[in-house]
Amino acid sequence: MMERPFTYRDNLLHVEDVALDSIARRAGTPCFVYSANGILGRYRAYDRAFGEQPHKVCYAVKANGNLAILGLLARAGAGFDIVSGGELFRVLKAGGASENVVFSGVGKTAEEVEYALEKGIHTFNCESETELSLIDALAARLGTRARISLRVNPDVDAATHPKISTGLREHKFGIDIHEAEEIYQRARWHQHLELEGVSCHIGSQLLKPEPLLDALDRVLSLVDRLRAKGIAIQHLDLGGGLGVPYRPTDDPPSIADYVARLKARTSHRNLKVMVEPGRSLVAESGVLLSRVLYRKVNAGKEFIILDAAMNDLIRPSLYEAHHEILPVKRDAGRGTVKADVVGPVCETGDYLALDREMANVLPGDLVAVATTGAYSFVMSSNYNARPRASEIMVAGNGWRVVRQRETFDDLVRGEMV
Ligand SMILES: *Cc1c(COP(=O)(O)O)cnc(C)c1O
Repeated sequence: MMERPFTYRDNLLHVEDVALDSIARRAGTPCFVYSANGILGRYRAYDRAFGEQPHKVCYAVKANGNLAILGLLARAGAGFDIVSGGELFRVLKAGGASENVVFSGVGKTAEEVEYALEKGIHTFNCESETELSLIDALAARLGTRARISLRVNPDVDAATHPKISTGLREHKFGIDIHEAEEIYQRARWHQHLELEGVSCHIGSQLLKPEPLLDALDRVLSLVDRLRAKGIAIQHLDLGGGLGVPYRPTDDPPSIADYVARLKARTSHRNLKVMVEPGRSLVAESGVLLSRVLYRKVNAGKEFIILDAAMNDLIRPSLYEAHHEILPVKRDAGRGTVKADVVGPVCETGDYLALDREMANVLPGDLVAVATTGAYSFVMSSNYNARPRASEIMVAGNGWRVVRQRETFDDLVRGEMV
């Protein structure tokens, strides 16, 4: 059992050994607070579970691209899964090695492909035949060869939220697994491509391993067919997708169990296995720390108004996502309240929770919006001209700001009257 990075000590919520109220006092709110050891622990859980089997754990940068997180993982030996040139830039800035980068995404531009070829990334996960031709042509121009894997669509239902499911035939992602063999055959004519891998990614926040294992079985049988035709597939990239417990009742498989089941299917096959976890590496190691501004009652309905809003955390509005909201100071004598938790943004859709039974927090109190290490800051915006929150990294009993709160001047950078 992995230790949780956020725990109450003397009724005060701590991240590792640091009390969250001391961070709020000095850094202000809203801010995202991350646990370095929480993130590292999860990376190591993947890495250790693979053990001696050839493998690479490529962190999906889109989950949280803060340089401090990327640097932490790079030093621990992680690879990176990127979906844009900007993410490659971030990885390199953070000290990541380009030969540990895989490039996914359905709409890579020529500029992005060129940049990635110049830096010598590990693999392009390609999503169409035209993309293969583009990469081949650009590699030829640069006098190099590109390592390729086709992202196939295994046509399994990830049984997750429709907006984060990607593995059905009708989705925009990947290449139909039934057409993949022919495309690999034709791609052998491209002189500047090395057909090294097969990849897939069926969706996100999967709470059951079965869809991932079904996808793996289908991709493995494709690998066998390709190898039988003389295409020397060396690695299989299963993408990300493992879920995290947003609700106390969610019970996703542990990283160790999940990887053990991957290994059972792959360890005898002379195949390097790659995974691209995003959420399961970072989500549980982050909170959004916010202060209660007001309480009010409208038409009998209780509202808790925070200084954090949908521009800081859009998941509840966008995906009906659930995030636990914890009082930083626990006080059983206060009782509970059923309320909508909202922010200052001028939209009815601006909420972090609806009809939530939660601690009866009052103006001036601090709350921690839990499980916001992934797909939270990265999706934040300046809507309503709100400067984006700061980000803070805790390790043991120390902490530092790893992204400053934006200023009003930041809001207008690049604009002109
Ligand atoms: C989003 C994404 C991931 C990461 O997914 P998680 O659910 O966060 O683990 C991995 N690979 C690809 C191609 C992705 O698009």
